[in-house]
Amino acid sequence: MPLGSPYGGQRICLATHHGKERALARPFALGLGAFSGEVQRLDDALSTCRSKAWIGLEQSGLGLGMASEASFGPHPAVPMLAVGQELLVFIDRARDLTVVEQRIEWRTNYAQKRLKPGEDPIPWLKQVGFPSHGVIASPSERADGPFFKDLTDPVVLQEALAACRRLASQGQVWLATDMRAHRNPTRMRSIRRLGVELVRRLGSPCPGCGAPGWGVIDRQAGLPCRCCGTPTDLLAVEVWGCPSCEISAPRARRDGLEAADPQHCPWCNP
Ligand SMILES: [Zn+2]
Ligand SMILES: [Zn+2]
Repeated sequence: MPLGSPYGGQRICLATHHGKERALARPFALGLGAFSGEVQRLDDALSTCRSKAWIGLEQSGLGLGMASEASFGPHPAVPMLAVGQELLVFIDRARDLTVVEQRIEWRTNYAQKRLKPGEDPIPWLKQVGFPSHGVIASPSERADGPFFKDLTDPVVLQEALAACRRLASQGQVWLATDMRAHRNPTRMRSIRRLGVELVRRLGSPCPGCGAPGWGVIDRQAGLPCRCCGTPTDLLAVEVWGCPSCEISAPRARRDGLEAADPQHCPWCNP
């Protein structure tokens, strides 16, 4: 943690199995995780993340703990588009403080593909960034696996595809991107960015009680249309708040935009 922060020079327990310390060590100048493609809801992701951080605290005996978690899925409004939600939870036992930093990640390679017998996997593999990004393969109709993970080598992948085809009655293979951080450099980058944001937040004291962690706690859509004033889906205000006391304050958009272009208006451009 940088000097000048209330946590400068202190040790933080990071609960991870998947090499996230490589992404977070730099922003924090500083191990649980079981993600391999299954999608979970955001509430679940947040409670999983909190429990991971607490387990790390219990096991390490340290006073500061951190954990990261992600969920991926189709965009709620544009199902063809995949989005990721990255979460970082920071716990300060002495101050009884839990700080949550999160971001929507539009750049994700999250995808799945059912490969027909004899179909060339190369176009899909290129699209998801293989081999720098890992993939997972399994026989198509078998929900219980076996799952071939840690596929980051074209030769090993070919062997796994052949094995899956033999095991699947129709010869189809289910391919999925490996979303575990250590097999997914895109995710690793977004965890690093989130770490930078969390460090900045922990360096911001609450204007009311002085506790660390003053930052955005809610984003509200509804920016009015410039022509007719109808609320749009665009961000209108950010609500800043304190993780310790109850004070919060709405703030206008950082870019100063006060009205939306009519192209975003459900009335002017239905
Ligand atoms: Zn309008
Ligand atoms: Zn406060």
